[in-house]
Amino acid sequence: MLETICETLVEAYRRNWITSRDGNVSIRHHDRDHFYITPSGVRKQTMQPDQFKKIGIVKQAVNRNVSMYNHTILDYTDISSKLKPSGELPLHFGLQKEMGQHRNDVRVVMHFHPTYCVAAMHAGIDLSTIVNDFPELSRYTKVAKNVPDVPPISQELADRCHENLGLTNDGTISYDIVGIKGHGVVSIDTSPWRAFEHIERLEHICKIVLSSRKF
Ligand SMILES: [Zn+2]
Repeated sequence: MLETICETLVEAYRRNWITSRDGNVSIRHHDRDHFYITPSGVRKQTMQPDQFKKIGIVKQAVNRNVSMYNHTILDYTDISSKLKPSGELPLHFGLQKEMGQHRNDVRVVMHFHPTYCVAAMHAGIDLSTIVNDFPELSRYTKVAKNVPDVPPISQELADRCHENLGLTNDGTISYDIVGIKGHGVVSIDTSPWRAFEHIERLEHICKIVLSSRKF
């Protein structure tokens, strides 16, 4: 599936959802205590599977109900060892440490900067309200309330995204996608293309709303 993520990066670049070094994606299989994440600062449209960073998840039980989590960078490939993980690692780690409804599956977390989603938030639209006029969107994609403009690659960005997505201690997530004002979106699903489609669906509706000039 790392190859498939690279394909989604090429397509995201082609659609102007990211510039060369933007965007990040992670993937975890339910039976592994590690996940893969795109590295920082590489050109995403030419990215190769051996450039991913492998991140170990270390879980320590504090008591019966509470656990502490740490991450560790694991060996993967020679080329990967020279790279750093995406600066949005806290965002991805929080969503990958427990898999909630994907506990028997795969979880993909995808962060891009799609033009019309970001433009709609800039124009003052809360993406979660768009569903009121476009019910087709909500059949397949649950949109969370916008996160306000928080600094990129910060713990604050991670925390606010986790909160608005309805992330619980067991990793259950209530929404499929969340927008971050002045920045981009984060989507979650069981495959790279499924996560991509949440962004595509929301981007399409945002383009319609902005083209209508009625907002
Ligand atoms: Zn970003």
